[in-house]
Amino acid sequence: MTQDQKITGTVENVRVVVRVRPMDKNELTVGARDVISLDKITHSLTIVNPHAMANEPSKIYYFDNVFDGSSNQLDIYVDTARPIVNKVLEGYNGTILAYGQTGTGKTYTMIGNPDFPQTKGIIPNAFAHIFGHIAKAKGNQKFLVRVSYMEIYNQEVRDLLGKDLGKSLEVKERPDIGVFVKDLTTYVVHNADDLANIMRSGNKNRAIGSTKMNQNSSRSHAIFSITVERSELAVKHVRMGKLQLVDLAGSERQSKTQASGQRLKEATKINLSLSVLGNVISALVDGKSTHIPYRNSKLTRLLQDSLGGNSKTLMCATISPADSNYVETISTLRYASRTKNIQNRMHINEEPKDALLRHFQEEIARLRKQLEEGRRLEEISNSTEEDNTFDDEWESPVEIEMEALIVKKNFITKKELGLCKTQNLKEIDIARVEQEKLRNKLVSLEEKILVGGENLLEKAQTQEKLIEQSITELEKHEKSEEALKQTLQERASEKIDIEEQYLTLQDANHGITKKVNRVMKMLTGVKSELADQQQEHQREKEGIFENIRSLSRELALCELVLNSYVPKEIQFLINQNTHWDEANGEWQLKFEKYAGNKVKKDNSDKSNHEEFDFPNLSNVYLRYNTDGVIKSAKRRISGVPRPIARRN
Ligand code: ADP
Ligand code: MG
Repeated sequence: MTQDQKITGTVENVRVVVRVRPMDKNELTVGARDVISLDKITHSLTIVNPHAMANEPSKIYYFDNVFDGSSNQLDIYVDTARPIVNKVLEGYNGTILAYGQTGTGKTYTMIGNPDFPQTKGIIPNAFAHIFGHIAKAKGNQKFLVRVSYMEIYNQEVRDLLGKDLGKSLEVKERPDIGVFVKDLTTYVVHNADDLANIMRSGNKNRAIGSTKMNQNSSRSHAIFSITVERSELAVKHVRMGKLQLVDLAGSERQSKTQASGQRLKEATKINLSLSVLGNVISALVDGKSTHIPYRNSKLTRLLQDSLGGNSKTLMCATISPADSNYVETISTLRYASRTKNIQNRMHINEEPKDALLRHFQEEIARLRKQLEEGRRLEEISNSTEEDNTFDDEWESPVEIEMEALIVKKNFITKKELGLCKTQNLKEIDIARVEQEKLRNKLVSLEEKILVGGENLLEKAQTQEKLIEQSITELEKHEKSEEALKQTLQERASEKIDIEEQYLTLQDANHGITKKVNRVMKMLTGVKSELADQQQEHQREKEGIFENIRSLSRELALCELVLNSYVPKEIQFLINQNTHWDEANGEWQLKFEKYAGNKVKKDNSDKSNHEEFDFPNLSNVYLRYNTDGVIKSAKRRISGVPRPIARRN
């Protein structure tokens, strides 16, 4: 791929599908009404307002595809995730987002029930797909697959695969690799079973975390990432595709009456990331915005590439069919509809800076060489050892000459040389252990890299077969859908013709009345749409006001604490000496680069040393004065440490 193509890339809209779950027990027991109907031909969804005004038509939304309660997990996988995973295997980024009200099937769609092949969700099916692909690839292709699993709750990032669940991780940014989470655990995986186990332990942690912190997993966002690196022997390039599988927090508004205190604070922060996501989507689709507010939440920072960036992205909006959820359902459909208009520009990631495959391959080559050298040495030592067992005194003429040389050169006696030899044997033993260690390291590194064509499938194989069956079925469906669509279109054009050829006045009257009725219906439709929009805006406005109120309260509290405990001059000093670092989202000391300890550290760094001719300050203590100037520097005489100068 040329640089030009990389800049232009392939432009594509975010694909949006809707999945309606079956009625649940509660809905069935209260006798809820089904307000949704789907048209698989036109990919449209019709929703009836249970409190409709007279003559109000139902609303129609068009999507890239629609799935009803009878659709199974494999149908969803084949239509939605498969094309994205294929792209990831080529080296593109891919994202799948599940969005919707709590209890409508986001987690079911993403994870499902992993114990049965038919009920596995998108994530386990992606595992089977990826390892199936590797198993079928040519032997000259090498792959490296690694995963991470995190949760964002209350604007804090938690590692679901890490040791410390309570620890909040930092979101950082670097110009060469972009936005990333610092210290996030990643696992290199060898097969689909490995992956399934990792996912399971992450899910468990998600559940544990949510009970411990008295929260509900529906209020956190979970991001499962799978990175696939590949290289071919002939073409040395490494390509890297990253798949982000996101189970978003429930989209419903947190009830104002329920939440108070800490709960309210949490609720506003949880709403915050979804409203920021909404604002990002609006800004992206309105076409006039020059600023996209990605930075306003951790979620949108991490999903920056997925929305309006370098990624093939799909949103699966999940809804309930019941009339009781009408308001939330409309809100989800609206959100999903807007998302359809986001344009992404994707390109293959060639030679990314954070790829591991190249690094591992180089390390393997180095270890191999080291081992080979070690083996040769071992061979030599083995042969001399053997000689020794046969005849301890016997030495070849060459060796005698060598020994004489050694003795002469180093002025050592023959006896000492004998000692040296036993020493050498000991060293050889140590070397053997070292050699063994190297060998183990090599094996573990080699295991990390997967070679195309190797059978990694095992259990995944049945899953992969299921996926393939669904693909053929889907293709059949698509063909018949296409044919139906065509006949429908033909009929529609006939209808218009008929209506426009009036023979008598009566006919004309009849036709026009029909038209008027249609227009009136459209008008009512538009009116109710307007009412819905106003309601939606009102909800959003209330949400924002709620946010403002809670943030103002927090701010007032902070100011009160600050003014009561920190003197004005000190506040002024702090203000003067710090600045807001937008990239890292934190306050930093100004001129920190020149601070004594930093200079000291940088100075000990060799590369820096060569570039700038700094004096070596590694054994100098630096002391600060109140005006920030380094006042005195005392040199430590080597070996005699002095006490550290007291700060004043
Ligand atoms: P969410 O993650 O959106 O809060 P869940 O995925 O937990 O919702 O789904 C809520 C319940 O509904 C679960 O018991 C789940 O098994 C069931 N469910 C959701 N979608 C479907 C579906 N398409 N078919 C069958 N059951 C479903
Ligand atoms: Mg869920």
